[in-house]
Amino acid sequence: MTLTLNDVRLTYPDGDRRLVALDAVDLHVAAGEFVAVTGPSGSGKSSLLAVAGALTMPEQGSVVIESTDVTALDQRGRDRLRRERIGFVFQQANLLASLTALDQLLLVAHVAGSARRTAEARAHELLDRVGLADKARRRPAELSGGERQRVGVARALMGQPALLLVDEPTSALDHDRGESVVRLLRDITREQAVATIMVTHDLQHLHLTNHTAQMQDGRLTTPASV
Ligand code: ADP
Ligand code: MG
Repeated sequence: MTLTLNDVRLTYPDGDRRLVALDAVDLHVAAGEFVAVTGPSGSGKSSLLAVAGALTMPEQGSVVIESTDVTALDQRGRDRLRRERIGFVFQQANLLASLTALDQLLLVAHVAGSARRTAEARAHELLDRVGLADKARRRPAELSGGERQRVGVARALMGQPALLLVDEPTSALDHDRGESVVRLLRDITREQAVATIMVTHDLQHLHLTNHTAQMQDGRLTTPASV
């Protein structure tokens, strides 16, 4: 299993009480597996990704990414794990307005300290893979919403992550563009053998995933096979 969450609990301060965002959550995702998490707004989906991505520490339970227990790492160890093993794709692609598609990817490699030539080869390969080979020099304003989201997917893959965490990737897209982004995620999950979790409240594309788990009030219900 690339990712294993065991009995995870996360709460936030809420006045003089605590709000329970994740409650006794178990989840296992293997390399090459594409899991969807659905559920109403406020049910804890983004909190789940934050914990799975080592951005937020649970107050109870364990988070294991490729045999590394995240809760045993210090801040630096978690930052490094995130940089080297985890890719994030957000609802809005969060691209820098002044950079071309190619440079969005190269920036990630630069921050990670990769050699320029290797990074360029990888960036071109990924832009080609997401169908943007001919748009590598365009800035975000010159790309459609779906194309920006594809740049976001390519950028998340620059570091060759083992785990891909995707938060509501289709919420700003029409049905066909959304479907094509989810299909891309499905294919990439398989080809690159990443473990992918996609949070969504868009039920239209679930047929493209291997499993769907449901989040309700911080509790995750997974089908028996997950
Ligand atoms: P979803 O992504 O399903 O909409 P979230 O994980 O964002 O749900 O939120 C789960 C619950 O935790 C909600 O009640 C939300 O208001 C609360 N919450 C999320 N982030 C924080 C935070 N940083 N501080 C306090 N409460 C938060
Ligand atoms: Mg959310």
